[in-house]
Amino acid sequence: MKDRTRLNHPPRVEVPADNPPLVAPIYQSVKFEYPSVAETLRGARHEREGFFYSRSGNPTTRQLEVTLAAMQGRDDAVVCASGVGAVAQTLLTLLQQGDHVLCFAETYGPTRTLIRRTLKRYGVTHTMLSIEDDAGIERELAATPTKLVIFESPTNPVTKIADIARITRAARQHGALTVLDNTLAGPHQHGQYDVDLYVHSLTKYVSGHGDVMGGAAIGSTELIHKLRGEFSLIGGTLDPHAAFLMQRGLKTYYLRYESQTASAQKVAEFLAGHPAVGRVHYPGLPQHPRHALARKQMRDFGTVVAFDLLAGGTAGDRLADTLKLFSIAASMGSPESLIIPPGLLGPRELPPALEAASGIAAGTVRLAMGLDDPEDLIADLAEALESIRA
Ligand SMILES: *Cc1c(COP(=O)(O)O)cnc(C)c1O
Repeated sequence: MKDRTRLNHPPRVEVPADNPPLVAPIYQSVKFEYPSVAETLRGARHEREGFFYSRSGNPTTRQLEVTLAAMQGRDDAVVCASGVGAVAQTLLTLLQQGDHVLCFAETYGPTRTLIRRTLKRYGVTHTMLSIEDDAGIERELAATPTKLVIFESPTNPVTKIADIARITRAARQHGALTVLDNTLAGPHQHGQYDVDLYVHSLTKYVSGHGDVMGGAAIGSTELIHKLRGEFSLIGGTLDPHAAFLMQRGLKTYYLRYESQTASAQKVAEFLAGHPAVGRVHYPGLPQHPRHALARKQMRDFGTVVAFDLLAGGTAGDRLADTLKLFSIAASMGSPESLIIPPGLLGPRELPPALEAASGIAAGTVRLAMGLDDPEDLIADLAEALESIRA
């Protein structure tokens, strides 16, 4: 063998079965080989275990999938390249021409646009209600044959709480599938409800470091099997290195989520007592309209706090420009604390009644807690609120 051929076929290091690495390794390989054509064909027919091509399966992304499924308390999961990818690929898998979708004014923007624009092009119709309109949801499911209900709790940014038991009961009764975008609550919450599929942006709390994007759908063996086939055709595959970083992020998931939730509670309480602030939107506050429901449904109230500045106009922008510890940036669940001023939250381009239901006012600001000490965050907010008043 010549040198260049030998370099291309090096000796392999095998890890003994009784000597596993403590950290799940990165299988940064697109291809996997079987010992023969016969075994390769058996692999392709799913008659034996193994991997072949990373778009349809890779041990590192698989490790992340089984971890997430266990965390959410379901059979299986399939991961993909972003949270929006998880939403889009799930809806494209489950819906066909002529189907009807129930969705909500408070829903994450790209999901609403996907339903209103993209799915409309494929002949999928929808009804949009407010997530707090429980009677309306029940009426709509009884009146209109509906394939699927997609909803969130808490909603982004004003943390409205869906009555998950009531929505899933009505959907089950009328034969509609439920898809809960569980991103804000995180995969450790809401597993006790009769939800068919959970979708997540892993970019937020699972990654936890603001340095990698990913998404997941989690549910029964049957539904995930169906999704996996279509996800592999649509092709928004999660890279194994990204899956490794997600798996690393998960090691500190509870520490981060609990710490950021504790900060959110303190910041929300501070804001609720501040004269420049109107409503504070945080499910952990007793004055939140669905605090009791949130207590019943949630283990942790979450890391996002929104509030309405009494002064309209440019007050929100000036606040964002004045704060030192909150970066003006999208997303949540990162080490850094973040702020989104009113101009970046709306408008939602909805009919007036639904625009009002979305809960975003002219002075609404969204905060996402990072890992900063909450006393420093409160001092920063106190100083900035004082300086924009002067
Ligand atoms: C961020 C987010 C998404 C989209 O996730 P990406 O990873 O940014 O694509 C979807 N739903 C909700 C509720 C989100 O907050």
